Amino acid sequence: MTAARPPNPPAPRAWVPPPPPGLTLRQRVEQSEREQGLRCDDISCGLGPSDDDPEPTADLARVIIHALGDGNPACAHAFHPACLVSAERVAGWAPDDERERERTGGPVEVSCPVCRAVGAVPHDDWKKGEQALE
Ligand SMILES: [Zn+2]
Ligand SMILES: [Zn+2]
Repeated sequence: MTAARPPNPPAPRAWVPPPPPGLTLRQRVEQSEREQGLRCDDISCGLGPSDDDPEPTADLARVIIHALGDGNPACAHAFHPACLVSAERVAGWAPDDERERERTGGPVEVSCPVCRAVGAVPHDDWKKGEQALE
């Protein structure tokens, strides 16, 4: 068989290609939905209007993640509670962790599904997300 390959050298990160000019129609639609508060920053947001279901019926309030220390926003992203809960579950939350956090009733520690900033959301908002997923 092949011999173990040496580890790849770290990729240079000096230059990032600029974003392509203009947005696709789909991106423009999603951006305007975000501006109207219909869709959150979760890349797999399931609550925005879709072709099948143009009238969103869910609670469209959004939560932002606050830094654990000073309580300032941890990042610029905002999420529907349900989108945040499902994103955190996808990220590998153990059910025991979840139960433990529910029991304590304090802020629930999360990491932003978009930029990985670590922070917390109020327990009430977390519960709202869980209920919306049931
Ligand atoms: Zn969402
Ligand atoms: Zn973020």
